[in-house]
Amino acid sequence: MSPQPGHDKRSRLLIDLPHGTSGAARREVRLRAGPLSALEDPSGDCDLAVVGAGIIGLAVARELAERHPALTIRVLEKEADVGAHQTGHNSGVVHAGIYYAPGSLKARLCVEGARLLYERCERDGIPHERCGKLIVATDGSELAALDELERRGIANTVPGLRRVDADGIRELEPHARGLGALHSPGTGIVDFTGVARSLADELRERGAEVATGCEVTEIRTGGRRIELRTARGEVRARHALFCAGLWADRLAVACGGDPDPRIVPFRGAYLRLRPERRHLVRALIYPVPDPRLPFLGVHLSRHPSGDVLVGPTALLAPARDAYAPGRVRPRDAAATALWPGTWRMARRFWRTGVRELRHAAGSGALARAAARYVPELRKGDLEPGPAGVRAQALCRDGTLLDDFAFSATERALHVRNAPSPGATSALAIARHVADRAGRALDL
Ligand SMILES: Cc1cc2nc3c(=O)[nH]c(=O)nc-3n(C[C@H](O)[C@H](O)[C@H](O)COP(=O)(O)OP(=O)(O)OC[C@H]3O[C@@H](n4cnc5c(N)ncnc54)[C@H](O)[C@@H]3O)c2cc1C
Repeated sequence: MSPQPGHDKRSRLLIDLPHGTSGAARREVRLRAGPLSALEDPSGDCDLAVVGAGIIGLAVARELAERHPALTIRVLEKEADVGAHQTGHNSGVVHAGIYYAPGSLKARLCVEGARLLYERCERDGIPHERCGKLIVATDGSELAALDELERRGIANTVPGLRRVDADGIRELEPHARGLGALHSPGTGIVDFTGVARSLADELRERGAEVATGCEVTEIRTGGRRIELRTARGEVRARHALFCAGLWADRLAVACGGDPDPRIVPFRGAYLRLRPERRHLVRALIYPVPDPRLPFLGVHLSRHPSGDVLVGPTALLAPARDAYAPGRVRPRDAAATALWPGTWRMARRFWRTGVRELRHAAGSGALARAAARYVPELRKGDLEPGPAGVRAQALCRDGTLLDDFAFSATERALHVRNAPSPGATSALAIARHVADRAGRALDL
């Protein structure tokens, strides 16, 4: 076991908090202790390096810290704060597990993850609300798909799921219209960035380091350690876990892994309802999704910030951090354009692509899509909102990988595909990865 670097007075103070100390008390101690990551030197030896401080990397590190308290764990994050990419740029919805093929990892880990997430939020006082959600059919042709969603939801043991008719829709969402809907009372909203911060806090309390501004730029394997060159020095670990979201494929390839699947970035832009029109939506109103696509379609969702979001779009982006619409990174654009899967996918889904281009071109098309569910909604009710970029794994044969996917390389495990409901599922994904790590790595 390597010595635990960076264990100064602050981290000892935090570790020594008695078990059961409340979240508020822990936060207060942390505030007194000040930020840790900017001062620590993350270089040197450790047992386990976790690359990526999104919600999944942090949850995985936390799970392993709890299971193996003697391990020295270092989380390496390239941005200045945790949760800076997908974790901090999403719909904020705690999915209940309705959509996913029974038996899939998504089905199992989403249901388990939502339960664990609510428990954590309640324990740590993280803003959340079980506001419920409607999946609404507006056209007779969608009713069969709604039946299938209900069948899946029941098979996946989604709590409280029930069918409602047009009157039932109005009762739950007075401004919404539809022929019929599925109501999921257990679906909710949460501040995922708050969850990421609480995980980082707990890690530090357990004596692990979360080093920000610490991009992994080069990886060497082959010896008794995996060597990670970072922006803040060299880290040598007995094992590494890569939870790098939009950059997952690049780091896997740098470890000698398979380039298939490649991550392609899909930009998701939202509009938001003007504050005086927020009353049009009480909770979450979703369409019946296209079963061929891994995205859930344009929805209206109350966000923990108080905003009501309309979106997101789903358009291939020329940069993996394309939060601003004009951002182009030649390396990212080339990686997408030169991947054979991209062209195979484009041939299959060109109609969807054209629709998404219309959604992205201006607020009119997105407003019309949302008005199918809330007829009073007008283009003038909407103002520009935030944007996120989805990390979607795309296989060489053009298949959009639907389920969560993991792989292994020498001394390392990789999360290769963790799109929505990845944030909801993070705490269960962490258990899954920790089980795999327990079997595959010498922890
Ligand atoms: C528009 C949108 C809407 C969504 N809506 C929902 C939703 O409502 N509910 C839900 O459950 N899920 C939703 N998701 C999916 C969810 O956000 C993701 O599944 C989840 O955040 C994935 O977490 P992550 O930790 O894998 O990725 P990320 O949060 O992207 O974290 C990966 C981290 O790795 C770091 N990293 C990458 N490369 C390096 C490197 N070389 N060195 C160091 N660090 C590195 C990155 O900086 C980043 O912080 C949505 C996603 C998007 C984009």
